Amino acid sequence: PTEDYENLRRRIYSNTKELWYYVHHELTKVIQEDNKAEKIQTILDQIGERKRSLLSDQQSLPELDGYNEWRQAEAANVSDLVQRRLHYLQNPPDCKDARKLICNLNKGCGFGCQLHHIVYCLIFAYATERTLILNSKGWRYNNKGWEYVFMPISDTCTSAYDDKVVMWPDLDNKYSVEVTYDAKVLALTFIDSISQKPKFLPLAIPKDLAHRITRFNGDPSSWWIGQMLKYILKPRQAMQKAINDTIAKMNFKKPIVGVHIRRTDKVGTEAAFHHIHEYMVHVKDYYDQLELTRPVAVRRVYLATDDANVLEDARSKYPSYEFLGDASIAKTAATHRRYTPLSLTGLLVDLHLLAMCDYLVCTFSSQVGRVAYEMMQTNRVDASDSFFSLDDIYYFGGQNAHDRVAVMPNDGAYQDISFQVGDLIGIAGNHWNGYGRGTNKRTNMNGLIPWYKTADHLVLYPFPEYKQVPL
Ligand code: GDP
Repeated sequence: PTEDYENLRRRIYSNTKELWYYVHHELTKVIQEDNKAEKIQTILDQIGERKRSLLSDQQSLPELDGYNEWRQAEAANVSDLVQRRLHYLQNPPDCKDARKLICNLNKGCGFGCQLHHIVYCLIFAYATERTLILNSKGWRYNNKGWEYVFMPISDTCTSAYDDKVVMWPDLDNKYSVEVTYDAKVLALTFIDSISQKPKFLPLAIPKDLAHRITRFNGDPSSWWIGQMLKYILKPRQAMQKAINDTIAKMNFKKPIVGVHIRRTDKVGTEAAFHHIHEYMVHVKDYYDQLELTRPVAVRRVYLATDDANVLEDARSKYPSYEFLGDASIAKTAATHRRYTPLSLTGLLVDLHLLAMCDYLVCTFSSQVGRVAYEMMQTNRVDASDSFFSLDDIYYFGGQNAHDRVAVMPNDGAYQDISFQVGDLIGIAGNHWNGYGRGTNKRTNMNGLIPWYKTADHLVLYPFPEYKQVPL
């Protein structure tokens, strides 16, 4: 390691202690003082500044440790390997003979939700070594089918011929999981209707790649899902041109923070309403931190939304920020037209640009927000620290249990639950106040958990290793 790296590492250690000295001293003093509210606000501001400094230093660590080029190269290599494996799977030497999986794109939901449906099918196909056949005639975003907007997911194999098609799982047959697995052609149901879920479904990642991915990326599950999106989401020339033309009209420049505000039909049904202010707190925090190491001439925000009034509202409330966004895209997305071909170009522009931003503020309850983050994960080595979700932690709809593992014991003396090192805790969510909620799987106790005493529990599944594809 370089001298700079060692010095920075020591500085972080020392400044973490400094933070404590400050908090301890100030709060001890304030206990005795009048005018507490004002004093506490000053202390909070100071702590915020010190926190940003610590995080900023820690972000510099990987730039100084001497491995940055290695990480870049490794991320590109592993991504390339996954893409080549998918290409191999999707283009079998003998299509007629190949085992297949049929997936229907007629899920009655939005584009983000449908993309995740294809991702689930593709992971199923990869896990069972089947070529994925996507049926998309009558698709709500293009009546003629997926291939009229995006490149087909296979160049050579797009039909199951007249082979017998077996539904998986056979919902009337409780032994279906084993019985139907061997069929030559399977057709998949929606992930939401499977009761016994295969272990290879998200958030699991392939065991043979896990130890490579974890060395450059902090959230391998979403990286893996992002790789599926990278394979399927290749706009055809006409669509790509429409996207490029819209983007060219915008003054998209870095640094820039992406904000996704999902409202209309989502609010009150699947998510709560969040005021623009709640998003901007995190945008401000991002820029305040960035300004510790470099001047920021313009605080730019790319705003994507399905609420036609948000852009104007944001511009009037935050005049010192520059908001990029296309009011006509938002307008289309704000009406019933959001699920029609008319909306698709605008949505792809939004997704593409959100994923290119330096930082993303959104609600992970929205599949649009999650897709943007997954795409971000394929755009750079590691985007796992480049977002803030106002509500849910990252998840994949219909996923298997998401656990955290205790890395320190907790005695549960306050309002929290107790656990021992190694306990698995099924996670309901993070409250973004230092605590999350979950169930200790050993004791069945449900309650609050100090988040910092737990770590994400990554599930490794022995997917096929595609030895035919060179490493
Ligand atoms: P979810 O409902 O937010 O979980 O995501 P879905 O993708 O399933 O459905 C929401 C639909 O609303 C999208 O497919 C879009 O058509 C539209 N939409 C939501 N947010 C945006 C946005 O920021 N920009 C655009 N252009 N459309 C959006």
